[in-house]
Amino acid sequence: VFITFEGGEGAGKSTQIARLAATLRDEGGGREGRGREIVTTREPGGTPRAEALRAALLRGVAKPYGPFAEALMFAAARIDHIENRIRPALARGAIVLCDRFSDSTRAYQGAAGGLEPELIASLERVTLGDLRPDLTLILDLPPEAGLARAQSRGGGEPADRFEAEGMRFHQRLRTAFRAIAEAEPERCRIIDADLGPDAVEAAIRAAVAAWRPD
Ligand code: C5P
Repeated sequence: VFITFEGGEGAGKSTQIARLAATLRDEGGGREGRGREIVTTREPGGTPRAEALRAALLRGVAKPYGPFAEALMFAAARIDHIENRIRPALARGAIVLCDRFSDSTRAYQGAAGGLEPELIASLERVTLGDLRPDLTLILDLPPEAGLARAQSRGGGEPADRFEAEGMRFHQRLRTAFRAIAEAEPERCRIIDADLGPDAVEAAIRAAVAAWRPD
């Protein structure tokens, strides 16, 4: 089972992934069978090589090469992550919880970054092959609220080159994630993330339980 978490900056994805992982571990993986392995991972990153690319991407190393080259660097990280971490875990029967995945590319490099949808779609075909998330939880909140959270965590300074983008960029991101959820209602659930962590956790648990009733 492959579950992805998506959303803009400061949406609370990492907190919520840790909480859902703990819940699923307590439940032994629910009806999928007791003792099922729960793997948490993130993009860009998730393997040593992809984490090295992440560090470079977040420092803005790829930015001068232009948006297409930058998207290719995200894709290179994703290929390593899929081949060496995600596919092996799914093959072992694990439940994989991933912080960002291909919808972030559609939203950040596509809708907000300006790359053509056709280009993003081809990139998705070559990097993902037949792999698709089974369920995608989109943590939605106004960008002002998310950025305020992200920057308070970073001591008031933008933590990376994407947080430092203007408000229009972050508005476009939110619109893009909502459009993905609308276009793929089978796979995607929108979670109101403009609430306290316990309320968001409860909404996520309810969404997962409704998707996979025990
Ligand atoms: O989720 P997290 O904040 O850790 O993501 C790392 C950074 O990489 C974020 O600033 C995010 O906006 C950016 N990113 C991106 N394109 C992706 C995935 C992540 O610009 N496809």
